[in-house]
Amino acid sequence: MKTIPHRLYLSEDQIPTHYFNLRSAMPEQPDPMLNPGILQPVKEEELYPIFCEALAHQEMDGSTEFVEIPEEIREVYKMYRPSPLVRAYHLERALGTPAKLYYKFEGNNTSGSHKLNSAVAQAYYARTQGIARLTMETGAGQWGTALSEVCSSFGPGLDVFMVKCSYEQKPFRKDVMRVFGGRVTPSPSMTTEVGKKILAMDPETTGSLGCAISEAVESAVSHPNSRYVLGSVLNQVLLHQSIIGLESETTMEQLGEYPDIVVGCAGGGSNLGGLIAPFMRDKLTGKHTGARFVAVEPASCPSLTRGRYAYDFCDTGKVTPMARMYTLGAGFIPSANHAGAFAATA
Ligand SMILES: *Cc1c(COP(=O)(O)O)cnc(C)c1O
Repeated sequence: MKTIPHRLYLSEDQIPTHYFNLRSAMPEQPDPMLNPGILQPVKEEELYPIFCEALAHQEMDGSTEFVEIPEEIREVYKMYRPSPLVRAYHLERALGTPAKLYYKFEGNNTSGSHKLNSAVAQAYYARTQGIARLTMETGAGQWGTALSEVCSSFGPGLDVFMVKCSYEQKPFRKDVMRVFGGRVTPSPSMTTEVGKKILAMDPETTGSLGCAISEAVESAVSHPNSRYVLGSVLNQVLLHQSIIGLESETTMEQLGEYPDIVVGCAGGGSNLGGLIAPFMRDKLTGKHTGARFVAVEPASCPSLTRGRYAYDFCDTGKVTPMARMYTLGAGFIPSANHAGAFAATA
């Protein structure tokens, strides 16, 4: 019997040259984001005050199949990609399962998570447009760490709104961001109108990703040459994260395998969406129809399993466009031990 090694690596020149846009293979497009003032679909130009133009375009583009990855982004990817696909022999044995289990390991970079894949792209496109400052929210600190790391070498300047309970519970995370030059503010804060309003209603609030998003968006649109960057949920983020799935597909091809089940954890859905992208395309186009897709989420923030599929705001302060999604309600605040990591919507 041929033994498959534990860790399977592609070579550097097998890092994808293009992102894959799964929406191009969907027979029915997702419902558009709505401008909450007039309840009409948001136009690309209406997103320009929030996102830089290249990212606003990616957000709206449901038809381009492959988007070329600029060479400068690929150069950064080479620091930590391709990531290994690991055969989980020990877990197979412990479970006594005849199944072959593989996992794609995205933790082997200095920021520690898959967030870096999109952070590199978002900082690059912003800098290319000459944006001077980015704002963002972070919960547990993964997105903040990834973007701080990229901004330290790429620019632009960075303001991080960090969920307050997480800021207090995980003090070293903010120190890592500060070492990389990110300015970190606990959220909700008195630095934004929406933060003041949330604090006036509940001075003791531990914060949530939903509050921090409101503050970061307000801070971006109310300062010159600033834009907001989000680490999950959005079409543009799923586009960048497709490199996880594309690399997995290539590795599986080399093994002569095709997955029966693809499982991913889902907070905002970006690593899951990126991992399943090429396999879901195969299913949609009829090339391989056998695979099943399983999303796993925390019971304490059960948007996919107990949420309602409806238009809702993406934040607590209701400053964002509305998106149709599984939502627990824009006002949902998870318990403090989860507020650091998860938003209410997916
Ligand atoms: C980003 C993040 C998530 C959500 O990840 P998705 O892949 O977008 O679902 C969950 N937990 C932590 C700690 C994160 O940083």
